[in-house]
Amino acid sequence: EDRARLAAGSGPGRTADDHPVKLLANIGSAADLAPGAEGVGLFRTEFLFLGRRSAPSFDEQVSAYARVFEAVPDAIVRTLDAGTDKPLPFLGLDAEPNPALGIRGLRVDRLMPEVLDTQLAAIARAARATGARPSVMAPMVSTPGEAARFAERAAKAGIQRVGVMIEVPAAALLAAEVLAEVDFLSIGTNDLGQYAFAADRQHPGLADLLDPRQPALLRLVRLCAEAGLAAGKPVGVCGEAAGDPRLAPILVGLGVSSLSMSALSIPGVRAALAERTLDDCRREARAAVTRKEG
Ligand code: PEP
Ligand code: MG
Repeated sequence: EDRARLAAGSGPGRTADDHPVKLLANIGSAADLAPGAEGVGLFRTEFLFLGRRSAPSFDEQVSAYARVFEAVPDAIVRTLDAGTDKPLPFLGLDAEPNPALGIRGLRVDRLMPEVLDTQLAAIARAARATGARPSVMAPMVSTPGEAARFAERAAKAGIQRVGVMIEVPAAALLAAEVLAEVDFLSIGTNDLGQYAFAADRQHPGLADLLDPRQPALLRLVRLCAEAGLAAGKPVGVCGEAAGDPRLAPILVGLGVSSLSMSALSIPGVRAALAERTLDDCRREARAAVTRKEG
């Protein structure tokens, strides 16, 4: 046990039998960078856009991205995740009756393609300026076609590594087809839970449905992880579940290859993995996906 705790102190994430699991950080800006993570699995770029009357300029975006790339050259940058539920005044989107089901995330691109093109160009410029090789990923992707079109836009901008988030159950069900279009998947369990259970993720009265230990959510995660193992491509989790030391071993047992979380959660998750073999994780995962709901 002492050995497990020692091994868990720092360095890359791994199980007691040395199965590697990348432990990455979720950040909103360079200010959130902290030691202990093996990289950045989710750079939420909307913080740069929040509370502004006009879009940040190309140059302003380049310098914000470059600050992150100087510290973490292989960071995964999520393109703007805005919409009527994460409102950005400069987008000028009309109010919608069901904002979580409307124009948000990658869907904003249907109305304003220049927003994504500017952002991808700024990421590519910042990468060149710093000699970094970041990845980009799109939020709220629903179909393989959307994944393919996003990958094409990123490639045109000169970004080599492209992924998509799995936050919509339809995309999880077609995980293999979605993954065929990109290099990796990153599962956003916060939204995937919301959409799988038809339960507003902010609703305090629905916490039981939004619990990431729900077997139905874990089975969607399993579909994605199995698609990743079959394709030999990475599949990570970047929702809150990834930072929960009780859930992280289950996610690893389901087959995910990285966990991205608030930097503060990394030591607890590292310790939880170091105490278990991959077989232990798989056993916990099997129990979790078949757990009888109360
Ligand atoms: C998620 O939905 O799980 C996620 C990581 O994205 P966000 O919380 O920013 O919507
Ligand atoms: Mg999300």
